[in-house]
Amino acid sequence: MIRFSINRKVVLCTVIVCILAVAVIGAKFQIIETFQGEKIHYDKNITTYGIDIDFDPVERIITGNEKVKYTNQSNTTFNALYFHLYPNAFKKQDTVPFEKNEMDRAYPKGFEQGYIEIQDVQKNNEPLNHVVMGIGDTILKVNLKNSLEPGEKIELDIKFCVKIPPSYGRFGYGEHTVNIANWYPIVAVFDKKGWNLEPYHSIGDPFYSDVANYRVEVSTSNEYVFAHTGKCVKKEKVDGKIRWTLEAKCVRDFAMIASENYQSMDDEIDGVKIFSYYFDDTFGDLALSCAKDSIKIFSELYGKYPYKEFSVAASDFFIGGMEYPNLVFIDQSLYKEEYKEILEYIVVHEVAHQWWYGIVGNDEVNEPWLDEGLTEYSTLLYYEKKYGKEKMNEVYKNLIAKPYHAYESRHPNNKNGVYKSINKFENAYEYQALVYHKGAMFIKELRKKLGDEIFFQVMKVYFDKYKYKNANTEDFLGVCEKVSNQSLREEFEKWLSYEKE
Ligand SMILES: [Zn+2]
Repeated sequence: MIRFSINRKVVLCTVIVCILAVAVIGAKFQIIETFQGEKIHYDKNITTYGIDIDFDPVERIITGNEKVKYTNQSNTTFNALYFHLYPNAFKKQDTVPFEKNEMDRAYPKGFEQGYIEIQDVQKNNEPLNHVVMGIGDTILKVNLKNSLEPGEKIELDIKFCVKIPPSYGRFGYGEHTVNIANWYPIVAVFDKKGWNLEPYHSIGDPFYSDVANYRVEVSTSNEYVFAHTGKCVKKEKVDGKIRWTLEAKCVRDFAMIASENYQSMDDEIDGVKIFSYYFDDTFGDLALSCAKDSIKIFSELYGKYPYKEFSVAASDFFIGGMEYPNLVFIDQSLYKEEYKEILEYIVVHEVAHQWWYGIVGNDEVNEPWLDEGLTEYSTLLYYEKKYGKEKMNEVYKNLIAKPYHAYESRHPNNKNGVYKSINKFENAYEYQALVYHKGAMFIKELRKKLGDEIFFQVMKVYFDKYKYKNANTEDFLGVCEKVSNQSLREEFEKWLSYEKE
């Protein structure tokens, strides 16, 4: 994610000279009728989600069923499985994932509840005992009648109902769009720490998931345009409703965004179809060209974007930009002349997350710096590759170094720990200064220390070794040390206050 306050918007507008060349691309959105095999080699034990839902556009309620096939890939016997129920954070004002001073912008028409109700959990047509628990009821615990041994598979059917709130965040609806993200029961990650059952924190992107395969069928009575993770393999009329069949392989989450008023255009780069969904032609085109150029640049720098599609969607999202696999949400109010430099920066930042968070995953709750630091620095690399070093230095100075030093001078006694959990940061301001700015400054320093050749080799090896997996700071340090053949632990400790757990 990246957030831009009004102040930051004003600062950026006054310091960056626009040197963007905007090309007009007029191709229109087309439904892809058949699924073409993607060259993704995935583990046969990968979790699969088959989700079949009906979306009521008037009440903004989703009802449906989720079939989850899960394999215990740990060495531990499980007596229960855990799922995140993120929509329940929207039930009460004290658990919504917004800071207090953001509530007016998050709910411009006033607070109303959003939630997910678990109606039934079954295995082989037999009900399983389950309990909704955790802060804000954001965890579903399914008690298994028989234990699930290492290597064993299980198939569960979860019946659920989701109410979408009038919120301008990741999950909610506004005047232009319905943002459907973090909306279904998603299996929690089991790692060496055990089950990861963190609630929906208001700072950062508090998510942590394994890659999975998805087939999502959505029926609705409205003529919506959907932007989504994965590919549309079928769009048909069934019983007077429109039914979309969407498929995605090896992705960390599945998000959608719907609008009755979307315009769209598309383009292609190296076999990847890129879509831009928007409400204004000029800036829809700008978002498309930034996505196209950044996908090309990051594919060359790190390793190829492995999916067939990518979408940039303007949305009622007051925070700035948010990444999901194959899909990013961008605040629609930034599609304006005065914000076009910010629009570019945000689109590129969210595209970079496709590599850092999306393909190479990490625990965004406990080590958020890892994807945000790499993503912010990747955004700078886009400016370097597209416009040259001078432009990159200018963007670095204005968007990273200046705001970081302003923070530092206001908080001279802060220990400046970059490596810490999102719930240890005081507020979004401190989080941004340390995780984004200092995180990117550290990667910049690392490049200087290693030299360009080794640094870019490190990034390629890190991407290749951890794609479709979750990595942590120790894994990243390990690749840096191995490729460069030098000890870097002290650098990590000094810059990040990193301590090996
Ligand atoms: Zn981000």
